[in-house]
Amino acid sequence: MSEPDFDIAILGGGPTGCALALMLARATHRPDRIALFQSDQAASYGYVPEKDPRVLAINHGSRVLLESLKGFPNVAAGIRTIHVSQRGRLGNTLIKHTDFDVPQLGCVVRYGQLHTALRQAVETSGVRIFAGAVAEITGQDSLCVRIDQDQNRVSAAMAVQADGRPGKLADRTYSQMALVTQAKSGLPRSGWAFERFTREGPLAVLPHPEASDQQSIVWCCSPVRAAELQALSADQFSGALTHMFGERLGTLTINGPVTAFPLTLNLNHQLVDGRIVAIGNAAQTLHPVAGQGLNLGLRDAATLAQTLKPWLVNPTRSPIGDLERFQQRRKSDRQVTVRLTDLMSRAFTTGLPQIEHAAGLTLLAMDMFPALRAPLARHLLQGLRA
Ligand SMILES: Cc1cc2nc3c(=O)[nH]c(=O)nc-3n(C[C@H](O)[C@H](O)[C@H](O)COP(=O)(O)OP(=O)(O)OC[C@H]3O[C@@H](n4cnc5c(N)ncnc54)[C@H](O)[C@@H]3O)c2cc1C
Repeated sequence: MSEPDFDIAILGGGPTGCALALMLARATHRPDRIALFQSDQAASYGYVPEKDPRVLAINHGSRVLLESLKGFPNVAAGIRTIHVSQRGRLGNTLIKHTDFDVPQLGCVVRYGQLHTALRQAVETSGVRIFAGAVAEITGQDSLCVRIDQDQNRVSAAMAVQADGRPGKLADRTYSQMALVTQAKSGLPRSGWAFERFTREGPLAVLPHPEASDQQSIVWCCSPVRAAELQALSADQFSGALTHMFGERLGTLTINGPVTAFPLTLNLNHQLVDGRIVAIGNAAQTLHPVAGQGLNLGLRDAATLAQTLKPWLVNPTRSPIGDLERFQQRRKSDRQVTVRLTDLMSRAFTTGLPQIEHAAGLTLLAMDMFPALRAPLARHLLQGLRA
């Protein structure tokens, strides 16, 4: 068989695809044999990552990784304390950075600014970028990537699906939407993030990366309620938000558009199909409660880069054994994180007083006994590392 054009083709230049490209570039002396396909500038695609309204809570482990890759944005708001509570019931807990001896538990960044920082780092890494290319894998034996549905193809020894799409029907469609916006707070508290569980779904009020008196809001609620809230005026929306969150930060006044994201859970048990492997949201999508999706995707990318390092020395041999090892190494962390966030998203919305009360007592017990709080907090901070 003739030598393929590339050793590795990465389909999707979102945060996990870019982070993987950077780690692989460091693991090989031939970064030019890695290709990254980014559809985001394709006019036909209609999605501009720089304008994505999401803000992302990045945990301490992910921040350290992104900084080491020089892909961390200049603008970020630190989280030093996380306040977790349940609306209308007893029980709350505080997780503090001092509990773990770290300067911050994590931070909040804009998706667009993270994307730009990673993208700029890839541009100087030696990786070959196909910008504006909507790529698709054709053929398994001689793996080809078809670009923009035309005859333009390149071949690769293996491919990574990092396009953010799980490629199968959802395991669970949450009857929740996430409404994302920003609000000015009357009594700002620097470095505090709040996760408030309500009967409708979790409400996260996070520091805003660009202004200390602003909060980033992720409000999960039923699709019907989301449509009602979106139809409100800014003043009415602010009133409903302050009522739902309570007075901890004074009055919350929204001052940005409200964007709705449908929420689904997907967990691909089979990450590997021959010489094709999935990472990030292409491998799993999860509820945004506790901000775990990207953190998990970055751990996928880091483990894949580490597993492929020996193969990159001699990419003429088959990568299939290494890919299967990767799948095995990622199993526990993916399962635990997906199940934990699924449980957290639903435990407080059952409408069953016994379960909601038990969930509240769990928060209370975690607040009283650090030994109960530590494993959960540590997982959310760093995940399970293989
Ligand atoms: C409301 C909300 C809040 C969230 N908050 C958090 C949080 O606080 N913390 C956290 O860790 N996670 C959070 N997440 C999850 C996080 O956004 C995702 O896990 C993360 O964006 C996944 O990154 P990715 O690179 O795998 O996929 P994506 O971000 O989807 O990027 C995929 C990229 O691939 C490109 N692409 C798609 N198809 C092709 C193709 N055929 N060819 C080439 N390119 C293609 C796309 O244009 C896109 O740029 C949140 C999600 C939501 C919806």
